[in-house]
Amino acid sequence: MNIIVQKYGGSSVENKEKLELICNKIIKEKNKGNEMVIVVSAQGKTTNNLLSLAQTYTDNYQDISKKDLDFLLATGEMQTASLLSLMLNSKGYNSICLTGWQAGIITDSNYGNAKIIDVTTSNILSYLKDKYITIVTGFQGIDKLGNITTLGRGGSDLTAVALAGALNAKKCEIYSDIDGIYSADPKIIPNSKLLNEISFDEMLEASSAGAKVLHNRSVNLAKEYNIKISAKGTFHNSKGSKVQKNLKEDFGIHFITKKDDVSKICIVGPMMLSNRDAISKIFKAANEENVEIYMISFSELAINIIVDTKKSEYFMKKLHEILIEKNEKN
Ligand code: ASP
Ligand code: MG
Repeated sequence: MNIIVQKYGGSSVENKEKLELICNKIIKEKNKGNEMVIVVSAQGKTTNNLLSLAQTYTDNYQDISKKDLDFLLATGEMQTASLLSLMLNSKGYNSICLTGWQAGIITDSNYGNAKIIDVTTSNILSYLKDKYITIVTGFQGIDKLGNITTLGRGGSDLTAVALAGALNAKKCEIYSDIDGIYSADPKIIPNSKLLNEISFDEMLEASSAGAKVLHNRSVNLAKEYNIKISAKGTFHNSKGSKVQKNLKEDFGIHFITKKDDVSKICIVGPMMLSNRDAISKIFKAANEENVEIYMISFSELAINIIVDTKKSEYFMKKLHEILIEKNEKN
């Protein structure tokens, strides 16, 4: 089977006109004899809106049930998948829409930031054998307890790469409103250059440091399974950029990027460099509170960590509690 996995991001699927153009793109590849697996994001700002909605229905947002929230967030992608499938069917193409769990995306139970632990492809494969265009909701899966999980913001890329790997697809195309990967964010640097190709390692570094084109976990997964990703513009005709294994010796500089909305937390005390107890407590708390540490540095007198601004005050309080209030040495 010649399987192509295409993933369409939120702004590419935000309205009927755009979905109409996407239908044509899918049909074009289908008519060439390819079997199509389409991964979709929620339309436009849907996920943000659902998050705000949840906030207005709860008293203490910090203590919100992440499991309940995932149940809500998963509906965003389901809307898109359904609408796209309705359109394709009405154009005379057999199409089926599958949720993450119907598509066999098995995850751990870390609600809100679940990791894919297995992909069971039998259901998708049976639809592909029957020539269905198979549309899969991105960003979601199911844990071993049977609960709906989400993979973390921007996680639809991850769904696409995981499916491309598990299905041994011949192509994995990630479509967004930018026509590929640039040497810098074109919104900030209009002279930035479109890159034909970039290595997994460089892309991983750049996406972890703030480049928004691809989810860093999706790049990591692609690297692990050696899945070549094409990052393309949904409504552009350019060839886009390839993210792949480094194929040649290369000394060029490819990217400059910056990370926005991050804050530094500084933890001060004597002999911090060798305070293993503090270091392990910081990482344990970050894990428990689902706070990503983007950078950490040590000196004799301080441990500096860089985290998401939205979580920094909350995490600072947590660290104060653990390292100062509850520490009998103080
Ligand atoms: N809809 C989710 C988000 O906005 C997942 C995705 O778009 O990849 O984060
Ligand atoms: Mg994205």
